[in-house]
Amino acid sequence: MSFSLEIKRELSRIEEQDNCCKKAELAGLIRAGIALRTYKGKPRLLFITENPSLSRHIYSRVKEFYKNSPDVFMLKSKRFRTHTVYHLEFTHLMNDTVHNILEDMGIKIQGEGEALIYNTYSIQNRCCKRAYLRGGFLATGSISDPDRSYHLEITFPDSLIAEEYIRFLNDFEVEPRQIMRKGHYLVYLKEGQEIVDFLNVIGAHIALMKLENIRIMKDMRNQVNRIVNCETANLEKTVNAALRQVDNIKLIAETKGLDSLPGSLRQIAELRLENPDVSLTELGQMLTPALTKSGVNHRLRKIDNIAEKLRATHK
Ligand SMILES: [Zn+2]
Repeated sequence: MSFSLEIKRELSRIEEQDNCCKKAELAGLIRAGIALRTYKGKPRLLFITENPSLSRHIYSRVKEFYKNSPDVFMLKSKRFRTHTVYHLEFTHLMNDTVHNILEDMGIKIQGEGEALIYNTYSIQNRCCKRAYLRGGFLATGSISDPDRSYHLEITFPDSLIAEEYIRFLNDFEVEPRQIMRKGHYLVYLKEGQEIVDFLNVIGAHIALMKLENIRIMKDMRNQVNRIVNCETANLEKTVNAALRQVDNIKLIAETKGLDSLPGSLRQIAELRLENPDVSLTELGQMLTPALTKSGVNHRLRKIDNIAEKLRATHK
């Protein structure tokens, strides 16, 4: 099961105690998810989802508040592999003046069903804002598998409801970004922490813990990798330097002879030849009197220079 579906299952199981919140959640769902489609010249009002628990959830909420309910159609699609799409049809509720669900949700139908017009939907209580935000995510939200990347988005058919959604989120210090894609308004989050905050706001606590665990594991793995990489790099540098020193010393020995070096350099050159794989610090400790790491380094650099000059003149 995808992480999106897991969260949506969790969310559609939340039982709100207060009617105010239930209604706000339904508004979030309907405003983000309902669409006007024209079939054979007639407008139809549909909420389409592949999620059976969401379909049941909307059905029972609408029935609870409006005594009327959408018609539900199950459509099997075989385009990729067989999967079921649920069509919740609200068309017959469009002109219900007694229980006008659309008006309640701040939506108007233009003309004979040419377009949906969204009015602002005002919410006072924080509890209801959370519920509204949850509804929006349930309707059109999706989240990537956190093992791979952090991305959460919710799409809206209209800029007004996209901006409204952002404003409600801002009230909880979550600041999403917005772009337009294929005529839809996309509100999205890309940071792990922001997504955790969002899940907290909409009450997806089980998903939140799962995401946190993955984040901790990822962090630890990255840290270990960083340390290992760093140690490997250092070790490589040390080994390369030692190989270069041995090469240089051999070159001097074969051309001018090590006797040509001043006493302090000859001493360290001989030691390095005998101990090609010890560190500079260890080399220093082999001398009497002992020499510091930087002292050893200084002498080896001089040897490197002499060898470089030899190489240049022998070419
Ligand atoms: Zn409420």
